[in-house]
Parts: sequence; structure tokens; C-alpha cells
Amino acid sequence: MKKQNLNNSVRKILLVVLGVSALLFSLQCLAQDDNHKSTAIWEPVPVVVTPGVGTAPPSDAIVLFDGKNMDEWESTKGGPSKWKLGDGAMTVVKKTGSIRTKKAFGDCQLHIEWRTPAVVVGDSQERGNSGIFLQERYELQVLDSYNNKTYVNGQAGSIYKQHIPLVNACRPPGVWQTYDIIYTAPVFKEDGTVEKPAYFTVLQNGVLIQNHVEVKGNTVHSGQPHYEKHNPKEPIALQDHGNPVSYRNIWIREL
Ligand code: MG
Repeated sequence: MKKQNLNNSVRKILLVVLGVSALLFSLQCLAQDDNHKSTAIWEPVPVVVTPGVGTAPPSDAIVLFDGKNMDEWESTKGGPSKWKLGDGAMTVVKKTGSIRTKKAFGDCQLHIEWRTPAVVVGDSQERGNSGIFLQERYELQVLDSYNNKTYVNGQAGSIYKQHIPLVNACRPPGVWQTYDIIYTAPVFKEDGTVEKPAYFTVLQNGVLIQNHVEVKGNTVHSGQPHYEKHNPKEPIALQDHGNPVSYRNIWIREL
């Protein structure tokens, strides 16, 4: 009789303990849920962008060159581009001058594909030299840097004379290569001084080569770079450095 009473008491105690544990667990879950709700943000909802297949432009990109015409480009000397159009590419024609976009851009994501000549002529800076000038001032170097010694702050993927690329991710001459560029435009104060400098992040053939590097000013061949105030949006230019470098599949997303 005594033993049965004892068993009943133990059972009751166990039930109370279980009940209290379940209650505490529920309260903890509610608290966690409240905590989650206080940090979950529902708006604004990001705009839907349909990605391109491979390196094709995403749905919100502005196509600057699709291989069919050079309508988005003009010569920096004035008038239409005199570069050669063919095989889905546009190719530098020596001494016709650099070309630039008719539209102007500030902060952007730029995809561009380039190819240096398969037949190697010259060395160092005279081999497959061209360049992509963001806002017509800040050069991301294009060069055949596949087994081609030159000063490292002037090799392919350098922010010319300012930043050495993290690695050399070059493909051989004659092979198409990609640059994916994230560019932040500089901001100037009223008096022309710099409020915020420009920045480059660049992937070459999918490999990070510039990681949010600060631009020191206009690209210059000699001397030290310095900023000169310009419009928030300026064209993108491609350099005629006298070598028949080709470009294709150019698209941009304004940020
Ligand atoms: Mg160049």
C-alpha cells in the first residue's frame, strides 16, 4: 500500500516537471520568434532581374555592343567610330583614335570581352595594348600579358600606374577574355576637391584581380595622378594604342 502511494507521488512529480519544461520551452520559442520578427525586413522588395545565360546580358542591362553595329559608340575625335566591325567584334584600327560611348555613366557594373592579336608583335607595352577608360579618365589596362614582361602597374588588369593586379589571370594571345568591372564614380565638392574617390573592383576571366581599390586620380603616363572635377556621368572610352585589339559582348548595368 505504502509503495503504491510512493509510486503515485513520483508519477505526479514527474508530470509536473514535464509540464513546467514544456511551458518553458514554448515561452523560449515565442521569445525567439519575436526576436526573429524584430530583425526580419520585408521591404523594399529587390527588383527581379533575369540573368543572362553564360555571359549574355541580364534583363536590366544596357547593351553597348552586340557585334552587329557600333551605334552606341563614336570616335573621340568626333564622328562615328572608324574601328573595324566584323565576326561579332570591333577591332582597333591604328591611328583612327579611341572611341567612346555616346551615353554617359557613373556607378556601374560593366561586362566587356577583349582579345589581343593571335600573331604576337612587339613586347612589353607595345604588345596588344588598349584600355578601358571609365569616365574617359581612369584606365583599366588591356594588354597581352601572357608571358610578356612589363612594369607590373602597367600589365593587363592594372589600374594603369596606380594598382598592380592581385594575380595575372591572362589567357594566351588570340583567345577571348572577360573583364567584369564594378566601378564607383568619384564625388566632387563644389570647389572641385574630392569628397569621395573612385573605386574599382575587377574580375578577369572570373578571377578577382582588383578588390575595391581607390583611384588616385586621372590616369597619366608620367608623373603623379590627380583628380580634376568632372560630371557625375561621363562616357566609357576604349583606347587606340596602335594595336589591333578586339572587343565584343559589352553590356552595362547602372548602379
Ligand atoms: Mg592601355
